[in-house]
Amino acid sequence: MANLGIPQNTIEILQKYQFRFQKKFGQNFLIDTHVLDKIISSAGITGEDCVLEIGPGIGTMTQYLAENAREVIAVEIDKALIPILEDTLSSYDNVTVINDDILKVDINRIVKEQNGGKPIKVVANLPYYITTPIIMGLFENHVPLESITIMVQKEVADRMQVGPGTKDYGALSLAVQYYAEPKIVANVPPNCFMPRPNVGSAVIRLTRHSEPPVVVKNEKFMFDLIRASFNQRRKTLVNGLSNAGISGVTKETVTAALEAMGLPLTIRGEALMLEQFAELADRLKEE
Ligand code: SAM
Repeated sequence: MANLGIPQNTIEILQKYQFRFQKKFGQNFLIDTHVLDKIISSAGITGEDCVLEIGPGIGTMTQYLAENAREVIAVEIDKALIPILEDTLSSYDNVTVINDDILKVDINRIVKEQNGGKPIKVVANLPYYITTPIIMGLFENHVPLESITIMVQKEVADRMQVGPGTKDYGALSLAVQYYAEPKIVANVPPNCFMPRPNVGSAVIRLTRHSEPPVVVKNEKFMFDLIRASFNQRRKTLVNGLSNAGISGVTKETVTAALEAMGLPLTIRGEALMLEQFAELADRLKEE
């Protein structure tokens, strides 16, 4: 099958099937072989790997993955793309395409069935409108995975890497850093896609930590606090958290915890590091 990373081949397939791009699905297909090579090499795909691809589109990256991995599972929401994928992937017997919404499928079950529950690698040129729920879902559901190598909006890639004191710091930064080591591996301009997006993109590799960098008694509770803190970013932690309706979290308990941690009562969540959110969560749980 012709390499779809070459723009002319993508154009031919789109015309053959009279495909119409759906904006609501964030469809921007890659048309740059260098970027595709870079994604595959950064993801470190080998013949042993089972790879989950989110949103294969017309199968451009899927072809590269099928050439390099043992097995590829590709989940695509747009049913108009399914006959196209059957065509463009017809020469591979190691690809399974699932027509579904990635936010609704039980990825843990797929990993169990297709890879005996052993860690997979996730590779994707993500639909940008659901980048955060996809990443949070993979981590919070504890999908067994080694790494996630994804194309995202440049600004979102930056957000994953920053610490306190920057405007981009937020719940996504903390979740990514709790679960993984983020590294931007390429910046990708709009002309590498068809149609061109309005924003710059970046490929980021998130390598899963074998152990989280901080110990916390109740991970879910810590993330409830983190989310609540950044939902009301301009408020002090004492006000923001006590309004959030989290059980056991009141003005009094937050004040006592911050005092015990030696932090000012005027502090906002955006000033706290991951270690401090972990300590705060443990102290509030004890109250
Ligand atoms: N991988 C292809 C490429 O690189 O050319 C396409 C990438 S395009 C940015 C995102 C793809 O994700 C589209 O094919 C879109 O239809 C699909 N998609 C959007 N929302 C989805 C969802 N909720 N579940 C699964 N796939 C989705």
